[in-house]
Amino acid sequence: MAFKENPSVYLVTKPAINWPQIANFFEEENVPPIPDSVRAGDDESAAVIEISARMCYMSYGRGRRDITDFINNLLSSKDGSVFEHVNYGLIVTGVSRSLTHELVRHRAGFAYSQRSQRYVDETEGTFVIPPALSSKRDFTKEARKVLDDALVHAAESYTELVTALEKSLPKSIFDSNTDRRKAIRQAARSVLPNATETKIFITANVRALRHFIELRGANFADWEIRFLAIEILKLLRVEAPLLFGDFLIEDLEDGTQITYPKYSKV
Ligand SMILES: Cc1cc2nc3c(=O)[nH]c(=O)nc-3n(C[C@H](O)[C@H](O)[C@H](O)COP(=O)(O)OP(=O)(O)OC[C@H]3O[C@@H](n4cnc5c(N)ncnc54)[C@H](O)[C@@H]3O)c2cc1C
Repeated sequence: MAFKENPSVYLVTKPAINWPQIANFFEEENVPPIPDSVRAGDDESAAVIEISARMCYMSYGRGRRDITDFINNLLSSKDGSVFEHVNYGLIVTGVSRSLTHELVRHRAGFAYSQRSQRYVDETEGTFVIPPALSSKRDFTKEARKVLDDALVHAAESYTELVTALEKSLPKSIFDSNTDRRKAIRQAARSVLPNATETKIFITANVRALRHFIELRGANFADWEIRFLAIEILKLLRVEAPLLFGDFLIEDLEDGTQITYPKYSKV
């Protein structure tokens, strides 16, 4: 049995531009070549936004010369659809099932693949400690004992249930061993708590990610998902500063952080 207090977030996929094809397109259309027509230069995330947005008016090589000004104008005028062309893939581990239950409510522009509790055995029992009960918060030590006892008990019950079902569920009613194993685990997982650790692969576009970070990075969001939203923001604003640089991060007295954007829901 193990406890985790912080998630791990891996940025695993990001946009890539096929520059020779873009150059061919510009040549065919008789518009200025790269770099005159792409002010974002080698910032590929911003370049995807610029190339797609300029398609609307065929304004390659014209209009706003400064790419920051160009992107901020799209954000402030809520021209959000072009931000859907840029997608990132993230692997997130060390988060609780209650966090992912909240996460998967974000539908538009998100794709998810999550570790299955039917296919994967949970006997190892890894649990995520809510931030309020983290070992860094000495003043919640007593409350933490209550949680630890409950988690130990849940892990034991899971293992006992698996063993009992392995003995009692007749093999004859299943087509395969895999089906039987799934039936055992899907029943046994009913005793696992919200704190059970899970792993999830998320792909989302920038419009959707900005909305997620705004909602879940706010003061009223649960501390665990708020921490995750801010971790994701920290990765993305290094990766794509023009697309996420308007978010400010603030430290609160309770030891947590919040974030909010200059340009709300685009
Ligand atoms: C602090 C907090 C507390 C919450 N508490 C609860 C709770 O107690 N109970 C609960 O059930 N949920 C709760 N939620 C979840 C919340 O209601 C949303 O389901 C979740 O935040 C996803 O937001 P969304 O629908 O805007 O996102 P997405 O599903 O990603 O949608 C993004 C945007 O696309 C548009 N859109 C998406 N789907 C549709 C559609 N079908 N029709 C029209 N427009 C659409 C909307 O503009 C929407 O804002 C809470 C969320 C937060 C942040």
